[in-house]
Amino acid sequence: MIQTPQKIAIVGSGLVGSLLAIYLQRRGHSITVFDRRPDIRTIEFSGRSINLAMSDRGWRALREIQIENEIKKIAIPLDKRAMHVIGKPLYFQKYGKEGEAIWSISRGVLNRKMIDLAEGTGVEFRFEEKVWDVNLPQAKIYTGETEKGTWQEYEYDIIFGCDGAFSRIRHKMQRRSRFDYSQDFIDVGYKELTIPANTDGSHKLDKNSFHIWPRGRFMFIAMPNLDGSFTCTLFMPFEGEVSFENITTKKEAKEFFKTYFPNVQKEIENLTTDFFKNPTSALVTMKCYPWTYWNKVALVGDAAHAVVPFYGQGMNAGFEDIYVLDELMKRYGDDWETIFRTYERQRKPNADAIAELSYRNFMEMSSKTADPQFLLQKKIEKRFAKKYPDKWIPVYSRVTFSNRPYAEALAVGDAQEEIMKKVMQLPNIEEKWDSREVEQHILSLL
Ligand SMILES: Cc1cc2nc3c(=O)[nH]c(=O)nc-3n(C[C@H](O)[C@H](O)[C@H](O)COP(=O)(O)OP(=O)(O)OC[C@H]3O[C@@H](n4cnc5c(N)ncnc54)[C@H](O)[C@@H]3O)c2cc1C
Repeated sequence: MIQTPQKIAIVGSGLVGSLLAIYLQRRGHSITVFDRRPDIRTIEFSGRSINLAMSDRGWRALREIQIENEIKKIAIPLDKRAMHVIGKPLYFQKYGKEGEAIWSISRGVLNRKMIDLAEGTGVEFRFEEKVWDVNLPQAKIYTGETEKGTWQEYEYDIIFGCDGAFSRIRHKMQRRSRFDYSQDFIDVGYKELTIPANTDGSHKLDKNSFHIWPRGRFMFIAMPNLDGSFTCTLFMPFEGEVSFENITTKKEAKEFFKTYFPNVQKEIENLTTDFFKNPTSALVTMKCYPWTYWNKVALVGDAAHAVVPFYGQGMNAGFEDIYVLDELMKRYGDDWETIFRTYERQRKPNADAIAELSYRNFMEMSSKTADPQFLLQKKIEKRFAKKYPDKWIPVYSRVTFSNRPYAEALAVGDAQEEIMKKVMQLPNIEEKWDSREVEQHILSLL
């Protein structure tokens, strides 16, 4: 359905705001994007900072506006996990079926590219202009140098809050009656570190793998960049025996890497320098509802639903919000109130589901990976899924390599868990885990 052109403001030029700008401009609206940050394209940047995993949901949103192939040129496919487990030789776990992969992409490179593409379609960007307040019923925003200084007022037909987990737009909505809001920090923080390229520009570890060093309560991961380097993330508790608070000197940092990550010894100097140079950041799950205000304001991406990153789905979920919004615009045309109401009702259960799945993955990684019963259960599931791929699609595949609702993935995952609980209670399961009997038992429970 054709829409009457609207004057629209998007607050936030991050990944979600810039993609939404392209979508809306394409529908004939006039778009201005505000961001408190300077233009990311003008900041000197090596191209290797923080990377993200893009999966099917993200790609579908990019395909819809014909930029999938262009973005794939700046991404690296990862078809497997490379597991660096202490006491075991390096081993690989395929992510999915043949041809299924997640893609490593630099957040900065992607964001620059999307701002370029948006600007190319006629979107106006106003950088270094922070939004301090919003008038929801009149769709007005107020920007300025400081909170107490003079503000500039802008009036729009519609405002989209794409201003991230600590959204100002949402903050204003929070003051309304019957607005639900929760924010939960986990006790684990993260730090970005780098493994540089070999002198010839090649990668030091397998380039098409997502590298994981699981260590129970903490974990180290690495994703490749196009320039041969790896961006690594150390996830670790803020406090406790092995924690950020307990590593305060270079000597302690070196000791830490030496003890827990023996196969990255050669990188120790670099990792230690990064450890003290880079900040330690916190991880939060943020939920809220409603996400919209009449036909005037809508929250999209992290502003509506921030999740912990253990499923690699935050950006993918934000991109899927946009894809869904666009479908609703096609269906309901100028009826923005219905578009917004349907959008929030459709997306909220899915946002809650991916928040739950992401949190469970964190719990799994931090406490269950050393539990022999849990590992045996995973082994049985894997064997069964391989033999009966149409009967048992693992939750990871449902989330990562599918566009079916996240809520469905969670529900199926819970049902599978119930079955596995019963299977694990079979007598002598440790001995007969790969037997025909166990297989039949699962089939009977399905
Ligand atoms: C460690 C880590 C790893 C992750 N890995 C993955 C992954 O592998 N895959 C994945 O899909 N997701 C991942 N995510 C999640 C992903 O980063 C986020 O979901 C995504 O960046 C959200 O994009 P956004 O545009 O909604 O918000 P943001 O990226 O937070 O952008 C918000 C923008 O709004 C601007 N802004 C904020 N307030 C104002 C204001 N008052 N006025 C004007 N501008 C304002 C900010 O400057 C910013 O540019 C990860 C997150 C973390 C922390």
